[in-house]
Amino acid sequence: MIVRKSMAELEKMRAAGLLVWQILNQLKGMVREGVTTYDLEVEAEKMMRDAGARPAFKGYSTPAAGTKFPFVLCTSVNDEIVHGMPSQKRVLKSGDIVSIDTGVQLNGYYGDSAITVPVGEISEETRRLLEVTRESLELAIEKARPGNRLFDICGTVERHVTANGFTVVREFVGHGIGTHMHEEPQIPNYIDRKNENPRLKEGMVLAIEPMVNAGGPGTRVRPDRWTAVTEDGKNSAHFEHTVAITANGPWVLTRP
Ligand code: MG
Ligand code: MG
Repeated sequence: MIVRKSMAELEKMRAAGLLVWQILNQLKGMVREGVTTYDLEVEAEKMMRDAGARPAFKGYSTPAAGTKFPFVLCTSVNDEIVHGMPSQKRVLKSGDIVSIDTGVQLNGYYGDSAITVPVGEISEETRRLLEVTRESLELAIEKARPGNRLFDICGTVERHVTANGFTVVREFVGHGIGTHMHEEPQIPNYIDRKNENPRLKEGMVLAIEPMVNAGGPGTRVRPDRWTAVTEDGKNSAHFEHTVAITANGPWVLTRP
């Protein structure tokens, strides 16, 4: 069942969403050569505590991983797609890209967002990878309107990505969000005909999150059982927003 939220609930989700935006905006400004992904973690955790929010990722576990995720951020560098772990050993260097994904729970409601940030000078292909991934998210957000269907979102991402010569990751998907970080529906970045195609209604809140590979769509998970990487070692980008469907159209809760 897809839980729909009242306007009062959406206002609470807005507060969580804006905090996530503030954190990601701060971290984006910190990214440069010589910074470690753990430096980003420390800053994010401090901002969450200061705001009285609970880190949504720290302590989160999945049956596949079998362990609790130990950090407030997922930091995924270059060929890492999602669920990378911050580390003092991971020193960013020019030419890298780092995806920063985070979520908070504030007053009972979740916000979830991700950005991919270039470090110094990146290649033209990688710049295009980031641009196309960001565009695919924006185009999908435009479809988050009452009367459309879920496949309008999924298909929009898939079409824009493949038309530009990149591939979408199939093993990881977006999701509904509210009083739980992961609610129904699942939101693949492609049309999965095995899934339902519900009509979108006012009050639904969706975390839309294209994960896009420069090379093939294949993925594997590292022995740490969290970090997902591309099979061919090529770069991957990830952008995500938490989006409410309202009578007036999409309301992106995770940006001002
Ligand atoms: Mg996320
Ligand atoms: Mg998410």
